[in-house]
Amino acid sequence: MERISWNQYFMSQSHLLALRSTCERLAVGATIVREKRVIAGGYNGSVSGSVHCIDDGCKIIDGHCVRTIHAEVNAILQCAKFGVPTKGAEMYVTHFPCLNCCKTIIQSGIKKLFYATDYKNHPYALELFEDAGVEIQQVEVNYLNIDTKTKDKYYFISSLLHKLEENGVEEQEVKRLKEEASSLFTSLE
Ligand SMILES: [Zn+2]
Ligand SMILES: [Zn+2]
Repeated sequence: MERISWNQYFMSQSHLLALRSTCERLAVGATIVREKRVIAGGYNGSVSGSVHCIDDGCKIIDGHCVRTIHAEVNAILQCAKFGVPTKGAEMYVTHFPCLNCCKTIIQSGIKKLFYATDYKNHPYALELFEDAGVEIQQVEVNYLNIDTKTKDKYYFISSLLHKLEENGVEEQEVKRLKEEASSLFTSLE
C-alpha cells in the first residue's frame, strides 16, 4: 500500500476529531502539530460540564450556535491548559476558520494553517494571515476514498426528517424513515 503523506495523516486526524463534535450545525476538527508530532486536538463542542447541542438542540443567537467552543480554540486551549507552547506550530483544520478563530490562531503564534474545506473564508482573515506571515494551504483528504462528510450528511438527513415531522407527515412513516436513516449511519451511534 502507498505510504500516506504527513499532510494526509494529520488532516485525517482532524476529520476523525470532527466526528466527536456535539453541535448539529457543523462538525469541525482541529489538530495542532509541531515537528511532525501531534501536540493537541479539538472539535467544536460545549463548555465542559454543559449540555450538548445533540441532546438539547443548538442555542441559536443571531443565526449562530453560541453553545460551542470552536475546534481551533479548543485545541489551542488544550495547549494552554497543559502548558504546551503553540508558537511556531502548525494547525490542520477541517473547515476554513471563522474570523475570531483566525485571530486566535495568529495570536497563538501558529505559523502555518492547513484547511480541507473552504467555509465562508473571510477576506479580512486572509488579510490578517498575510500581515502576520501565517502561511495557508488547502489539503483535502484524498486517499482510500474515505468519506469525510458522513456527519454532515447525517445531520442533513436528521433535519429533513425533523421537517417532515413538523409538516404533519404520518408518525409511523417518519419512524420508519428514521430507522432506515440510522441503519445507514451505524458508525455514528
Ligand atoms: Zn450547536
Ligand atoms: Zn471559529
